[in-house]
Amino acid sequence: MPDNPYRHLPGLDALLARPDILPLINEFGREPVRDEARALLDAIRADIRAGGSAPSEDEIVVRLQDLTRAHLAPSLTPVINATGVIVHTNLGRALLSDAAQQAMMAVARSYSNLEYDLPAGKRGSRYVHAEDMLTRLTGAEAALVVNNNAAAVNLVLRTLAAGKEVIISRSELVEIGGGFRIPDILAQSGAILVEVGTTNRTRLADYENAVTERTGLLLKVHQSNYRIIGFTAEATLAELVQMVQDIPWPASIHVVNDLGSGTLLDTRAYGLAYEPTVQDSINAGADVVTFSGDKLLGGPQAGIILGRKEIIDELKRQPLTRAYRVDKTTLAALQATLMAYLRGTAAEEIPVWRMISAPAEELERRARAWANALADAGARIELLPGGSAVGGGSLPGQTLPTTLLAVGCPHPQRLLTALRACSPPVIARVQEDWVVFDPRTILPAQEKILLKAIRDVLAILQ
Ligand SMILES: *Cc1c(COP(=O)(O)O)cnc(C)c1O
Repeated sequence: MPDNPYRHLPGLDALLARPDILPLINEFGREPVRDEARALLDAIRADIRAGGSAPSEDEIVVRLQDLTRAHLAPSLTPVINATGVIVHTNLGRALLSDAAQQAMMAVARSYSNLEYDLPAGKRGSRYVHAEDMLTRLTGAEAALVVNNNAAAVNLVLRTLAAGKEVIISRSELVEIGGGFRIPDILAQSGAILVEVGTTNRTRLADYENAVTERTGLLLKVHQSNYRIIGFTAEATLAELVQMVQDIPWPASIHVVNDLGSGTLLDTRAYGLAYEPTVQDSINAGADVVTFSGDKLLGGPQAGIILGRKEIIDELKRQPLTRAYRVDKTTLAALQATLMAYLRGTAAEEIPVWRMISAPAEELERRARAWANALADAGARIELLPGGSAVGGGSLPGQTLPTTLLAVGCPHPQRLLTALRACSPPVIARVQEDWVVFDPRTILPAQEKILLKAIRDVLAILQ
């Protein structure tokens, strides 16, 4: 009588009762693991019916472990960013300082005075928490923190310009990425877009000619992720402010500046071109300035709105502000981040600025040490000069000099794919026919794991 291959398959309950399945059940729960096991056994039976052979029980256990992890483990996971792009939107933007991490943890595990006025012993407002620090740092009259900068821009436009005309230069009708296009944001907020100037040149007179009694505001948007070079002209923020003040009839027109990245530090001190600061926009007299919390500020995801007190007070009263409100952990991380700026230690404490200011010799030393450690890994290894990018829609086209670890490989894309399948995944990039790793964005604590991942992947691909 021929051997019945189904006879060797464990039953569902027998499989789940195995001691080596217990850790899986403890981690993911009995019901979900049972569902995975049932589906796996069904698939194996179908395979046998189609002429396949029965796997051993130990093989089934390994497959169940792999499948359960693949289907049930939380999908959001740390990765190693070897791209050298410091504020990488796809990889989570700014890393938080130690102080910011601790501050988040403190309010996460305990009750807090999020909306409680301690001296008065009654209900307070969550909006007070970062406001004082923000106004001290920037010179603004008042501040409001919302969920992100897209929300900030939307809230400001809806409040100040719904049903009114918003004048903006054609060179600033940008798409930031991730579905944030200035014309769409304007349309959605109920404002009417009035484009002025040309792609490369917009003069003050272009704005002047477009102002009517229907004008609600002049919007200046940071070009973020692209740059116009050559024959160009732009009216400055200060010129727009002056122009509005000089309007001969009683107009209520606001000048709003969406800065995007919004740096508080002078980028020239780090070998970069000048990126206008938040303080510049306030000094230029903008009525409202908005920027992101997790780009060059180096804090949590947030949208920061600075401006005149009566405008910020009006924003705080909007029902939409409630929908855009920030979480307590965000406020805690933001305050801790701002404290570093107040102390004057931002460049040392905040990861984004530590990466920007990493000395070239240190980057080279680290890449060299990795090259030495991988000398016997079975691939061509070299050091190449390269450029790291700041990212986050700031300083497009500019790079910081770095030293790349370069791994030669006949199929660079296969190496990249295999690195992404590592745990934790490694995100590298290709330069010519090398796979390159930029030490600037690789944390010292990740170096050992990175080298092991490269070694393991090379061993499999060779
Ligand atoms: C990044 C950016 C935004 C969007 O900010 P989020 O914080 O991602 O919502 C808006 N405007 C400009 C100019 C930007 O660079």
